[in-house]
Amino acid sequence: MSKATIEALRERVHGQVLTASDPGYEEARTVYNAMIDKRPEVVVQATDDADVVAAVDYARENGRDLSIRGGGHSAPGFGTCDGVVIDLSSMNGVWVDPKRKTARGQGGCTWADFNHATYPYGLATTGGIIGSTGIAGLTLGGGIGYLTRGYGLSIDNLLSAEVVTADGRILTASAKENEDLFWAVRGGGGNFGVVTSFEYQMHPVKDIVAGIFFYPIDKVADVLGFYREHVEKAPEALGFFPAFQIAPPLPFIAEKDHGKTFIAFVSCWSGPQQDAEAQMAAFRKPAPIVAEMVAPMPYYAMNTLFDALLPPGLQHYWKASFAKELTDGAIAAHVEFGPKVPVVNSTMHIYPINGAAGRVAPNATAFAHREAKFATVIAGMWPDPGDNEKNIKWVKDYYKALEPHSLSSGYVNFMAGDDAGRVQDNYGVNYDRLASIKKKYDPGNLFHLNQNIKP
Ligand SMILES: Cc1cc2nc3c(=O)[nH]c(=O)nc-3n(C[C@H](O)[C@H](O)[C@H](O)COP(=O)(O)OP(=O)(O)OC[C@H]3O[C@@H](n4cnc5c(N)ncnc54)[C@H](O)[C@@H]3O)c2cc1C
Repeated sequence: MSKATIEALRERVHGQVLTASDPGYEEARTVYNAMIDKRPEVVVQATDDADVVAAVDYARENGRDLSIRGGGHSAPGFGTCDGVVIDLSSMNGVWVDPKRKTARGQGGCTWADFNHATYPYGLATTGGIIGSTGIAGLTLGGGIGYLTRGYGLSIDNLLSAEVVTADGRILTASAKENEDLFWAVRGGGGNFGVVTSFEYQMHPVKDIVAGIFFYPIDKVADVLGFYREHVEKAPEALGFFPAFQIAPPLPFIAEKDHGKTFIAFVSCWSGPQQDAEAQMAAFRKPAPIVAEMVAPMPYYAMNTLFDALLPPGLQHYWKASFAKELTDGAIAAHVEFGPKVPVVNSTMHIYPINGAAGRVAPNATAFAHREAKFATVIAGMWPDPGDNEKNIKWVKDYYKALEPHSLSSGYVNFMAGDDAGRVQDNYGVNYDRLASIKKKYDPGNLFHLNQNIKP
């Protein structure tokens, strides 16, 4: 069979097929992390599964690198390359089945798209904390968010996925069909094919109560000590995490404090509204409050609350690890490095992954580290490329200081481009099974621009 050409690809595809000479190419090649500057041979803006199959065939037959772009948020920039890019952003439909309490979202949905569509039904599932993150990349790596303690990771709510495999087949992966593939896509990232839609179990979450609390920076040890205790006993409907944050000029923060660095809690109560005040009151205990904002709001509003702080076009460098405990040693490292957060966009978050997520067996899905209670991320995000060295140094030094107090593994979705050597640790007991499923579905490693599992 002769190799597919760009001309033949244009004929096969209903969406836009953009090469360097086409209008819209510059925008189409850009991803969220401004450090990534690739010039794809072709960007296929898929509109349906058939377009995806055509692009996969083209990449495979011509031996090209292949990137899949869902929301484009990958910090290492896996959503683009110099070869073929399948851009799913036009495939952002969501269908809700209120009777079954399920929802299906196409692979190009952001969480903002998804939560907007499910809100009128009073239904939500675990998704990320930022609206512009893609449901695809986030779910395929695990999926941590405000609802994790109550309802598990995003993958724990995944009922089925439509997958275009390396040989161009369209498969359903579920508990009943292609069970091995279904197991692998729940945590194994984009290694196994292009997921064109995700079907989730939904839960009765509509309006929540959000709380943001800022404390003096000399109270880090008290605040993190409180976190360590509270995460054990707080109801699972309370999603919360500590963060280092330079105060942006927001109305709830006194003007004199704008630009100062604080330790903060971000919290989301999705339980009964009448209990919200008691839940929020707990956050006033660990240290004096410098500023706070507590308000009821739709779940989708909480999910987009911080989007303005993290616009596309920042430079990104992240490091991450899991921890079973928040030890005194870890707290000492946070006391030393957290207050040095260099810019308003950068932060460090410690997400709790206990509760429902922790009750799933390590080998039930590809996400192995169910013993971890915390997923820590040091997220360097800054506007000026001239500040790269300073910001990357902050992330690396902080990570190094936490290393002795963490597991060797971390959450694949928070890994840096230079973390390829940690993939086996990140998949732990599940790595060998993942490698054999990879061999079955992608023996040529067509899908290698990810935290790669070798076939
Ligand atoms: C600002 C910000 C906030 C974040 N917040 C959270 C959070 O709250 N919780 C959390 O768990 N993570 C969070 N993350 C991390 C996030 O989960 C990862 O960056 C994730 O990979 C993003 O998915 P995406 O679809 O937007 O990215 P993309 O760059 O499009 O893709 C990321 C990876 O997934 C693969 N991929 C994408 N779409 C598909 C598909 N349809 N089929 C197969 N493979 C695909 C790509 O090949 C690539 O390897 C955040 C990231 C950012 C930048």
